[in-house]
Amino acid sequence: MAQEDVFKKIVAHCKEYGFVFPSSDIYDGLAAVYDYGQNGVELKNNIKQYWWQSMVLLHDNIVGIDSAIFMHPTIWKASGHVDAFNDPLIDNRDSKKRYRADVLIEDEIAKYDDKIEKEVAKAAKRFKENFDEAKYRATSPKVLELQEKRDALHTRYSAAMNAMDLNELRQIILDEEIVCPISGTRNWTEVRQFNLMFSTEMGSTADGAMKVYLRPETAQGIFVNYLNVQKTGRMKVPFGIAQIGKAFRNEIVARQFIFRMREFEQMEMQFFVRPGTEMEWFSKWKETRMKWHQALGFGADHYRFHDHEKLAHYANAATDVEFLMPFGFKEVEGIHSRTNFDLSQHEKYSGKSIKYFDPETNESYTPYVIETSIGVDRMFLSVMSAAYTEEQLENGETRVVLKLPAALAPVKLAVLPLVKKDGLPEKAREIVNDLKFHFNTIYDEKDSIGKRYRRQDAVGTPYCVTVDHDTLNDNCVTLRNRDTMQQERVAISDLNGIIADRVSITSLLKKLQ
Ligand code: ATP
Repeated sequence: MAQEDVFKKIVAHCKEYGFVFPSSDIYDGLAAVYDYGQNGVELKNNIKQYWWQSMVLLHDNIVGIDSAIFMHPTIWKASGHVDAFNDPLIDNRDSKKRYRADVLIEDEIAKYDDKIEKEVAKAAKRFKENFDEAKYRATSPKVLELQEKRDALHTRYSAAMNAMDLNELRQIILDEEIVCPISGTRNWTEVRQFNLMFSTEMGSTADGAMKVYLRPETAQGIFVNYLNVQKTGRMKVPFGIAQIGKAFRNEIVARQFIFRMREFEQMEMQFFVRPGTEMEWFSKWKETRMKWHQALGFGADHYRFHDHEKLAHYANAATDVEFLMPFGFKEVEGIHSRTNFDLSQHEKYSGKSIKYFDPETNESYTPYVIETSIGVDRMFLSVMSAAYTEEQLENGETRVVLKLPAALAPVKLAVLPLVKKDGLPEKAREIVNDLKFHFNTIYDEKDSIGKRYRRQDAVGTPYCVTVDHDTLNDNCVTLRNRDTMQQERVAISDLNGIIADRVSITSLLKKLQ
């Protein structure tokens, strides 16, 4: 199946099974805004819990906060967002569609990469076991020509972005003969800067309203609370502050479902370190975060690092954790060495000293910061994409199963009476009432048992138990495993012991030690 079709199916599946709905659906939606349904909210909460606990429970030097979305507007001046949080936009005059100029060019670079990979794959097929890939890449005239063009474009693009030279970005689009995917023409406008922050007004007009912003990242809430937390928590550098919360960006082009939204949620952790030690901590956090991703068990080949060449105004090192989505490797998390830029800026703009006195070195300094910043929604999409599976069964049927890590699954156990009579529903309810205190357990009596299994497979429920007539005598049930579809007879009294540990977030956290 083409990857594009897989993606469409995942989007449809999210809606059909109560994971994600377009916002304001009955009014035909609101662009790039989404709501999470009954299963989506559980999965999302589990992702957040996995992240939060991995930060705050597993590290005795990381604590959490929950800061407000509205903040003093000067914060965004100090952080550079008022002046520099811009994307270069360009319009196609024929289709009237708007694009990010940088994304158009990056897509063009990716096309060269694709072409190179296709050449290599073709040659591998032709030469079979005699194929020497490294030699082919180094000597094939076709590959070398493509590589040279790609590198030249990349160098030119990086220089234009670093200088934010809007004319040059436009010229690259013209020189590369990039066309609008909708109209197919090269009738482009000038490139303009577009600030991504939403603003609104605070206070009644009588008092004189103040322009405030909806935060475009949660990080600044951490920076401006850094000293409050350090002092009241008696934290010693190195230490971290974690936060989960909403962020808002008026994205120019919002496509690809919940990958790029205008209202989304971030999980950010700022780690404050002694100046000069930041590179060591940067590599440590890279490793820690990759381990967190890989503990989910989707396979190491689904992840890669992408180091930044164009660094944000505040960073001295940056990398992305990319995940293999149905539309290619894409950023889910950014890890940045932010220097002491933010704290120094807030010190300057607020006029208040926020230096840290280090009792070990007897020095005062502004700590350097390593940030790990991950989007909950992108993480959600990556989990959904990796979990969505269509399986051909022996009887010729296909089943759709979400192979979610059990700890993230919205429902852990479904209890199903074989029939709706003879005391089986009552017995099933008894099991639910006992186990619901331990993990998310539901009761379902509608439709045939086969249909009920399929329904649970489709939402990723790792276990189902069936209560049958024998249960009333032997107090045993049939326990079915989602992935293997194997069934075993187990005592009701053993269910908690068998299931609880496997479906707990703790089981994931233990893999991180
Ligand atoms: P991109 O290059 O894709 O716009 P970014 O580099 O601007 O992302 P950061 O500012 O580093 O993103 O934000 C950290 C994380 O927040 C990202 O890795 C991503 O998971 C998430 N994120 C950023 N923008 C969005 C968005 N519009 N919708 C959903 N998640 C987002």
